Amino acid sequence: MAFLGIPANTVEILQKHHVNIQKKYGQNFLVDTRVLEKIVEAARITEEDRVVEIGPGIGTLTQYLAERAGAVTAVEIDKNLIPILEETLAAYENVTVINADILKMDLDSLFQTQGKEPVKVVANLPYYITTPIIMALLEGHIPLKSITVMVQKEVAERMQAGPGTKDYGALSLAVQYYTKPEIVAQVPPNCFIPRPGVGSAVIRLDRYEKPPAAPEDEVLLFGLIRAAFNQRRKTLANAIGNAAGLPYSRENVAEALEALNLPPFVRGEALTLEQFVELADFLHKMH
Ligand code: SAM
Repeated sequence: MAFLGIPANTVEILQKHHVNIQKKYGQNFLVDTRVLEKIVEAARITEEDRVVEIGPGIGTLTQYLAERAGAVTAVEIDKNLIPILEETLAAYENVTVINADILKMDLDSLFQTQGKEPVKVVANLPYYITTPIIMALLEGHIPLKSITVMVQKEVAERMQAGPGTKDYGALSLAVQYYTKPEIVAQVPPNCFIPRPGVGSAVIRLDRYEKPPAAPEDEVLLFGLIRAAFNQRRKTLANAIGNAAGLPYSRENVAEALEALNLPPFVRGEALTLEQFVELADFLHKMH
């Protein structure tokens, strides 16, 4: 029976094992049974699922996942938490704990499905690795069905943002290229021990089998997006024309914008994903 969502039980485990909470690893342990229920419900976990959890901590969310999934693989960087996980997860035979840094792991072998269904990632993420791990999961071309994660509220908003808003940027476009994002819960700091200094949100990213807006050249698309948002206040023609590594002049971009019926001084932040794809395809044909 999952028991760690109750604050007193988490405090007892932390005290019993003299846990030195590691701020550098983003350790904020979830202590709210409703939020835990909400995460596993949002991830739509069934017995058919294999789940990868990033950062199990003392095993709080892992217990909820293990009670619903076929199998759970949990990757924890902090070796001091491994003996605690052995204790809190002792009742679950379908859980494998790996002591490793997820950012240094070979994701191809971690996500091996042996011909079975794609994997679901579920995690209360350490906030300092949110963007690199989400990007590695999306760009890794690994068998992935969905990502349901607790992240900093502002980051969840950036993932879901559309053109013309201040939150819209390279992360929004990358997430929306590969997945359909949906914020499913807002979570205040008092749901964690210790309390983080920021608000949190749970977001689910459902991966498309095939991106619906696919360009001829994916590398070029993301090169253009990076250039557009690296110099966000510049016009798109200047940002791309000045970008190192992109072989297009301001004049090339101006020609493309005209052909796509976009204003000559438009900024990247005004373009939809589909318009970035059209721009990439037009420039791709040039050279
Ligand atoms: N899942 C637990 C919960 O919900 O209470 C703990 C979540 S806590 C926000 C993040 C966890 O990720 C911590 O246990 C931390 O040690 C672990 N972690 C931090 N960086 C990591 C990394 N690079 N690879 C794997 N785990 C990491």
